[in-house]
Amino acid sequence: MVFAWGAVLPAGAACGDERADAAGREAAGVASEFDGAAALEAVRAQVAFGPRVPGTEAHARAADWLEGELRRRADTMIVQRWTHTTAEGRTLPMRNLLARFRPDEGRRVLYLAHWDSRPVADSDPDPSKRGAPVPGANDGGSGVAILLGVAEAMARRAPGVGVDLLLVDGEDYGDFESDTDVLIGSRYFAERLPDPGYAPLFGVLWDMVGDEEPVFSQEAYSVRGAPEVVQRVWSTAQRLGHGAVFSNSTVLGITDDHVPLLAKGLRVIDVIDLDFPWHHTVADTPDKVSQRTLQIVGDVAIALIREVTAPPR
Ligand SMILES: [Zn+2]
Repeated sequence: MVFAWGAVLPAGAACGDERADAAGREAAGVASEFDGAAALEAVRAQVAFGPRVPGTEAHARAADWLEGELRRRADTMIVQRWTHTTAEGRTLPMRNLLARFRPDEGRRVLYLAHWDSRPVADSDPDPSKRGAPVPGANDGGSGVAILLGVAEAMARRAPGVGVDLLLVDGEDYGDFESDTDVLIGSRYFAERLPDPGYAPLFGVLWDMVGDEEPVFSQEAYSVRGAPEVVQRVWSTAQRLGHGAVFSNSTVLGITDDHVPLLAKGLRVIDVIDLDFPWHHTVADTPDKVSQRTLQIVGDVAIALIREVTAPPR
């Protein structure tokens, strides 16, 4: 993803203390169902396939692995496979993976993350490396790790609402400036929603959620398109003691996978920390991803599902 029209990043990253976070969770009466260590392991496992660049062997093998990991935990799966033809005429095999819990439930929560990684490290400080692919530990891998951890928690204890966990392909393939061959999977999904009248109560895109000094600012398209979802996510984070991480500062709009879904009327926001020094470089590797940050994000993601209450009769 990229900023559509420039960036205003918050001044200074807040780095809370782990005991305070734990105290916040305890005060809120929320035991952690999310395994941060397993999530970091899931980041490493993805990167170990090699860059998940569409059209490569690593991409196909990673997709098979992710499909298996989700299938083991979900009540049902929808796999969307298609061929995308790029602006340059290349054909790319694409795969979106949708893991569903309680598929018959009308009231649903949608989480998504992109699972592909970028073919070119075009922001690398070393010009000789800019043609190399991005390992995608934080950019791609971290969001996927959150969804796998949520899947595990939902498999252990079924949610009170329907839950859809969507891994989209081809987010980071092409050129954001010209809006060419990017957001491929989310655009495909937006045109082929899983149910007639599909309208989750709320949705969250988790992207770049592993930085060791996380600050999630409120992203402009999210605030404009689904302000009540921003409110919901930020107040839950604050209740869990993560008010310094989920900052009330704002950033300008970011072209990311929530945009095609918002355009379809779905209430989906982007939780993203773009202040990551290794973004779109060859150094976006698992050592740059923090288990503690994954834990915070995973706890918030699960709490959001658990706190959805039954509809009034
Ligand atoms: Zn990216």
